[in-house]
Amino acid sequence: MDEMDKRTDLIGLSQAELVGFVQQIGEPAYRGRQIFAAVQHRRLRSFDEMSDLPKALRERLRETATASTLTVESRYLSEDGTRRFLMKTHDNFPVETVFIPEERRDTICFSSQSGCPLQCTFCLTAQLGLLRSLTPGEIVEQIIIALNDAYGVGERPPRGTNLVGMGAGEPFLNFDSLLQATRIMADPQGLFIVPHRVTVSTAGVVPRIRELATIPDRPNLAISLAAPTDELRDVLMPINKKWPLEELLGACREFEQTLKAGERFTFEYVMLDGINDSDEQARQLANLLNRHDLHAKVNLIPHNPADPLPYQPSPATRVEMFKGILESKGIHTFVRRPRGRDIFAACGQLAAVTQTVGLGANSQRG
Ligand code: SAH
Repeated sequence: MDEMDKRTDLIGLSQAELVGFVQQIGEPAYRGRQIFAAVQHRRLRSFDEMSDLPKALRERLRETATASTLTVESRYLSEDGTRRFLMKTHDNFPVETVFIPEERRDTICFSSQSGCPLQCTFCLTAQLGLLRSLTPGEIVEQIIIALNDAYGVGERPPRGTNLVGMGAGEPFLNFDSLLQATRIMADPQGLFIVPHRVTVSTAGVVPRIRELATIPDRPNLAISLAAPTDELRDVLMPINKKWPLEELLGACREFEQTLKAGERFTFEYVMLDGINDSDEQARQLANLLNRHDLHAKVNLIPHNPADPLPYQPSPATRVEMFKGILESKGIHTFVRRPRGRDIFAACGQLAAVTQTVGLGANSQRG
């Protein structure tokens, strides 16, 4: 264990927990609320900046706690305005976060694990393997870092902020930390990003889908499908051998029945040229969803290629044909526009790639 391990990461504490923490070191409750606001609302990442705290208390805090554990190693800027942050944990594992500006809102794509234990053959992150799961504080700090970079420390984002748990890792294999992070971020005295602004994506960890169905104030759910049959899904997403399509879609049906107004539920389908994008496969997919009485919309994601991956994106005309077939069978279908491909920030491209000159002329380090 290094020094950092022994100190309490205040970013991973709810307001009530922070109050408990300061009381334990003999401070009044209001100090806890003050520190929570400093960390989560003013987005300060060092005690030095918290000049409204007595000096002695700040020194005390420095010994027992920390308000920052991630360091930004590099930052890449895409020609479409997307930013990718490559960070390191205190124990040197890579963490990646992507900031995606859009006209009416910004989206921050955060990671739930360093690397990923799943072995989806079309995803670059899989090649890292699982390095470790991230703590609640490490999840929340990614958002703090991205917002401070985009707007300045503590500045209010001019547009709404949506979060997607679609970075590196399988969020449902780090379920408790994920939920703790979303609860902290929802606090009106903190970041105030409420659960209906958050979407988490799973490759299909069935027991956690069922559990999410029972949780009030939960984030939105997305399911990565990638194939309409077990035969193909077993190959593309080996997790399918553990939880095959019948079981997965059964859990999805249960989940869908618990949806409340305003909650979103989607399927993600990565489009791989000549692998999962035929007319026949579109019909199979539509029939599969209809047979399970599922009404969730489908997002088609053109594959983001990367050198070691043996796939190419489906041509745009193929994607349109596929979409047309799904829609003719009553399935709402959207085609997602890839963002930040030039800086390895797009879906399935997060693999702690350090770019050097020549690999994307528009990227910037700093
Ligand atoms: N492990 C979770 C969270 C990651 S989400 C999950 O699988 O849902 C990442 C999304 O990007 C998934 O929907 C995945 O299917 C998709 N994806 C992975 N690699 C991709 C690639 N190379 N191009 C486009 N989409 C990809």
